[in-house]
Amino acid sequence: MLFKIPRLYDSHVHFIATGEFASGLRLESITSLQDLQNLDRTKPGYYRQHWLVGFGWDERQWPAHEQPHKDLLDKVFPDIPVYFARMDGHSSWLNTTALKEMGLESATGILTEKDHLRAWDHLPSFSKSQQRANILQACRTFNAAGFTHVRDLSCTESLWNMLCEVADAGDLTLAIEENFTSHDMNDFERMLTLAVETKKQERPLLRSKGIKVFYDGSLGSETALLSRPYNGERSGNQGRILWDLADIEMIMKRTWAAGLEFSVHTIGDEAAHHIVQTARKISAQGAVGRLNLEHAQILRPETIQMMKPLHVRCHMQPCHWLSDRVWLMEKLRELYPYVFPWEALRLAQIPISFGCDSPVEPSSFWRNYLALEESPQARIRKFNGDITVVHAHPDKTFAPDCHSVIEDGVVKEVVFNGKRII
Ligand SMILES: [Zn+2]
Repeated sequence: MLFKIPRLYDSHVHFIATGEFASGLRLESITSLQDLQNLDRTKPGYYRQHWLVGFGWDERQWPAHEQPHKDLLDKVFPDIPVYFARMDGHSSWLNTTALKEMGLESATGILTEKDHLRAWDHLPSFSKSQQRANILQACRTFNAAGFTHVRDLSCTESLWNMLCEVADAGDLTLAIEENFTSHDMNDFERMLTLAVETKKQERPLLRSKGIKVFYDGSLGSETALLSRPYNGERSGNQGRILWDLADIEMIMKRTWAAGLEFSVHTIGDEAAHHIVQTARKISAQGAVGRLNLEHAQILRPETIQMMKPLHVRCHMQPCHWLSDRVWLMEKLRELYPYVFPWEALRLAQIPISFGCDSPVEPSSFWRNYLALEESPQARIRKFNGDITVVHAHPDKTFAPDCHSVIEDGVVKEVVFNGKRII
């Protein structure tokens, strides 16, 4: 099977994390003290200042008698601070030197959830040359997977400035759209200002699109907001909301009034319903703007109908189905018919774009193709649209002279800005 795709687009990525992940220290194969002792720790990309940072350990792969603990790290790394994040990004493993430097106490060296995130935020930042290297690595990673266009959901001021430098030096091999994440009302004004200011600094290969917020959680951790309880009635858990809806209404209006796009992480059906309802409400008051629903993994038919008069686009990742399929039916029960509704959206003529959520899933056109091929066997309605259309950047004027050829999962050719790069 051979595809030639114009402007091959991954419409939902975490750009710099993809570069950091690709050039960083990986711990997937570490399952013992012996492995730790043999670890190659020489690459400069593994360090943030004097801290050794790695990702991907999984205690379930370790023997029961030997489990991740700060004592093991202390044996191998007595002098430098070590910070190792777990494969799911929900916990971390630190040695005594690291705990001391952060002023933390922990009997095991394992930090989870909030403690883990706080520690992550306090890690020293990368140097400028490392940031630049991570940007170039991210470009190479996406190019190698065939992509010429990406939409990043996690921009920061320093990333934007560095991207402008790399673009001006002529070293960007991707057309990039950027969005700034607002976590709560405390940072919204700052993010909006950043989005407005960066919009004025756009480059031919670099665009600033708007604001992104997380409205709910994930299906895996049962925090995505559903209209029915997870795993049947008895659990009582329907997930979580991370924003007050009145605040969402206000910041959606503000973002649209600034001429920017508003993007919302909505995985559960009820989360998407709240957001679409809110967009309808402010539209009726005269507000106009673009709404992006990120993931949109479960949508009820009435929510899709309500999208019709709005400027809305759903950014979906079929590859998530490959990872989630084993438990989807059991978790969702009566909501299962509404999961991964790409065909329902197509029939309703709601624009959709496909992506991969890298580095959560590897950026891969082929995995999305396989997910579309295989999912009808799991009673997901077959997508009758053209995958090369929903995987192409919709704007034909944005880095127009780009195409990719992919045959049976192998990237055969990538042309970026008229130049063959693969
Ligand atoms: Zn994401």
